Amino acid sequence: MLTIDGSQGEGGGQILRTALALSLVTGAPFRIEKIRARRARPGLLRQHLTAVSAAVAVGGAEVEGATLGSPSLVFRPGAVKPGEYRFAIGTAGSTGLVVQTVLPALLTAAGPSTLTLEGGTHNPGAPPFDFLARAFLPLVERMGPRVEAVLDRPGFYPAGGGQCAFRVMPAARLAPLDLRERGAIRRRRARALVARLPRQIADRELAVVRARLGWSEEELEVVVVDGSARGPGNVLLLEVESEHVTELFSGFGQVGVRAEAVAEQAVEQARRYLAAGVPVGPHLADQLLVPLALAGGGAFRTIGLSSHSRTNLDVIRAFLSTRIAVIGAGDDVLLAFGGAAAAGS
Ligand code: ATP
Repeated sequence: MLTIDGSQGEGGGQILRTALALSLVTGAPFRIEKIRARRARPGLLRQHLTAVSAAVAVGGAEVEGATLGSPSLVFRPGAVKPGEYRFAIGTAGSTGLVVQTVLPALLTAAGPSTLTLEGGTHNPGAPPFDFLARAFLPLVERMGPRVEAVLDRPGFYPAGGGQCAFRVMPAARLAPLDLRERGAIRRRRARALVARLPRQIADRELAVVRARLGWSEEELEVVVVDGSARGPGNVLLLEVESEHVTELFSGFGQVGVRAEAVAEQAVEQARRYLAAGVPVGPHLADQLLVPLALAGGGAFRTIGLSSHSRTNLDVIRAFLSTRIAVIGAGDDVLLAFGGAAAAGS
């Protein structure tokens, strides 16, 4: 059985999620030790346990050690079962991170599936719903499957209570994706969402976007979330739609953090991306690794490689034999899967 060291590299929850995702697809059982050893509260937290239960349900798996705070886990997958799934992550745990865990297996399952998730839809440190719907899933669709994403109601930390659904129409296999050029920028859009908070917060965030990025009034939008949100929340979403890819950067409102500082977080990411001229930003990069490795081919150019991505690559290499080349450095790195490096460059 494969043994995964949960303390390697980043030593965070991503090691577990990637291992679960690839175990489901490949059918390879694994043991993971020292789970999240580099985090302040190591071991399995509630949101990781939800990811484990989701993987158990989708993969008819057997599991040992799935308890709160557990430092190790054994996971033995059965056959992937497409179907209708509903997972409640509890409070404001990220729905996006559960999607990361089970979606790869459903993309090539024997039939369609629907994932309905309750919890947080816009959480700091996790892919917000809009990132999945606008940036990540359209690229997955280019690889063959269809995935429709619907936001029923947003959920923000700490109240949660959001709901989103993903309808997956699988493909027999994932086709390689080649994303080396960004192409011309076609559309830019900044949306500042406020739920149960003064609209003025959104106005101040958008003022920063206008001043720092020079985006025009028509590109800025305040979205006042109606009564559907269970608690207060604020997120700034900066979307850059180019010829070959859409990227989305976010800043999350937090108690005690000024609206201007929240906007700065997102603006800084967008500035770096726009200056680098590559198609794929850091978060999208670490999330594309699993699908491209499963496709066994393709390539993308990205801004450097985060330590998150490097750790993810090490976990992927433990499960799959796809050759993955990392070429270049600085703000322009090419990741080539299978024989793609030789074919394209
Ligand atoms: P844990 O905190 O549970 O130990 P971790 O540290 O491994 O988990 P993170 O580094 O928080 O996990 O990253 C989780 C995932 O969320 C990564 O795939 C990352 O790219 C993604 N992510 C984080 N922030 C954003 C964002 N603003 N937009 C898109 N994706 C994001």
